[in-house]
Amino acid sequence: MEQRVRIVWTPCRFGGLRPWFQCSGSPSRPACGRRAAKLYLAIGSVFACRRCHHLAYESQSERPAHRALRKARKLRMRLGGGPSLLDAFPERPPRMHRLTFWTLSAKALAAQGRALGLEIDEIRRRFPGPASEENGFSSPQDVTSMVKRRERFFTPRALAAWNARARGLPRHS
Ligand SMILES: [Zn+2]
Repeated sequence: MEQRVRIVWTPCRFGGLRPWFQCSGSPSRPACGRRAAKLYLAIGSVFACRRCHHLAYESQSERPAHRALRKARKLRMRLGGGPSLLDAFPERPPRMHRLTFWTLSAKALAAQGRALGLEIDEIRRRFPGPASEENGFSSPQDVTSMVKRRERFFTPRALAAWNARARGLPRHS
């Protein structure tokens, strides 16, 4: 499958030009036209901007999961940790008051639990059956890595390589 995507250039503040994709939309949102730095390969093999991708392919029930995930990541970073839920929970930064640390930690853990719970619900809804209930995606690690895989995106160069492969041509460096 080949998809043509328009690339637009805008001047940078300190000189030079910056390439952007112009989103060509998705089946459910054909006239998007947003400038995007990244395009996502959505289910059904359409490259579209983040917003189109979410509107087209994410159910209502998944959005709260993303909100909770964002919140958990933000809190972790405020506590001096990284955004990944797979990392160990951050320790109290030296200058942070204990009560503040406990309060933020409790909020972070609650958001994290909510995000994972909602993701699991979503996965069970999408892939019903015994595997999903028993040994499918039951652990938080599985769910987090699945969330990461869904975040697959393409830059202009990566998209050119993808199109070259799709045409069966040798890839340019
Ligand atoms: Zn779009």
